[in-house]
Amino acid sequence: MYQSFLIKYAEIAIKGKNRHLFEDALVSQICHALREVDGEFNVRKEQGRIYVEAESEFDYEETVEALQHVFGIVGICPVIMAQDEGFDALAQMVVAHVKEVYGDKSLTFKVDARRARKNYPMTSMEINAELGGRILDACPNMSVDVHDPDVMVHVEIRNQINIYSSEIPGPGGMPVGTNGKAMLLLSGGIDSPVAGYMIAKRGVSIDATYFHAPPYTSERAKQKVVDLAKLVAKYSGPINLHIVNFTDIQLAIYEKCPHDELTIIMRRYMMKIAEHFAKENKCLGLITGESIGQVASQTMQSLAATNEVCTLPVYRPLIGFDKQEIIEISEKIDTYETSILPFEDCCTIFVAKHPVTKPNLNVIKHSEQKLNDVIDELMKTAIETTEVIRVE
Ligand code: ATP
Ligand code: MG
Repeated sequence: MYQSFLIKYAEIAIKGKNRHLFEDALVSQICHALREVDGEFNVRKEQGRIYVEAESEFDYEETVEALQHVFGIVGICPVIMAQDEGFDALAQMVVAHVKEVYGDKSLTFKVDARRARKNYPMTSMEINAELGGRILDACPNMSVDVHDPDVMVHVEIRNQINIYSSEIPGPGGMPVGTNGKAMLLLSGGIDSPVAGYMIAKRGVSIDATYFHAPPYTSERAKQKVVDLAKLVAKYSGPINLHIVNFTDIQLAIYEKCPHDELTIIMRRYMMKIAEHFAKENKCLGLITGESIGQVASQTMQSLAATNEVCTLPVYRPLIGFDKQEIIEISEKIDTYETSILPFEDCCTIFVAKHPVTKPNLNVIKHSEQKLNDVIDELMKTAIETTEVIRVE
């Protein structure tokens, strides 16, 4: 029934002189998202609007789904576009549209006509009244409600005529690529994919670093993280996933440092290595899925100790969220089912029974000195042997 979509965007419309940069980024993200969809599309910018027009047969459901993954889109309106061939032709199209979509349902409606071309021979009010009358004649079960209609029939008179009456919600946010890049510490848990999604939603491109500890962690645990990166990439675009072999560093920490400090010390080395790759890839910050008090390594004291090794800002979008709130987002973005697959994480293997909850930075630094002989070499090897996978 539809051949085109009108794309609504809100936040990027307020960016003043930069507006065209944001619109161009949105167009380019839409084109990217539609590459995977069956069909040929023309995406164009016109008079402060973006239109997606199918130029061949296309899969409607797939197209809508792809558009629902593009940050910056607030609404997706399936639209009928036509040339202006006089008011009678317009009225016929509007009536046909309403009949086809709403049939003989008992619904209330309102016509909302807008003229971008003020030389049209009727005013908006006259168009509303006339079209309303014709819809009532053609659809006896429908009635007018100007305050709270079930269906809002939009008629826009521009260079062409647009007719639409539904708006499918988009994901909101800002087009990816308009706000630099950040490095996500991506584990196989529930939290970090959600954290990546939330920062990408603000227009930030994402790279990721995952620490594994073979043979203590399996190939399947690694594949799970690759799969999670793929799901995040549906929103964020391509992710360069750095897979760091962390085994020897973890073993050294386990051997030389007090066991109740293992997780904090390990986190500090993860941050250092992630920051190394962040800087190498022009990232402007790090992202983690941490949330205050979630576990011993995320008390305020632990977060301070972890943070201390970083020179880049660390973005923690989930910092004030409860687990249940995080789970709701992970279900919405479809990462939950993958996150809960029961493969061991490198952190869970070397955890202490009673980890410190209020680490003292001086004590931690003192413990880390026991690694002085080996750590530089181990870090160097971990960095040099890191595997990078481009996840699309
Ligand atoms: P969960 O959903 O079980 O909390 P999690 O991945 O958040 O999973 P935490 O132990 O809470 O696990 O880790 C806190 C944060 O540290 C993660 O959100 C992630 O950003 C980072 N992190 C933890 N383990 C790893 C890892 N193996 N590789 C990369 N980042 C990690
Ligand atoms: Mg967590």
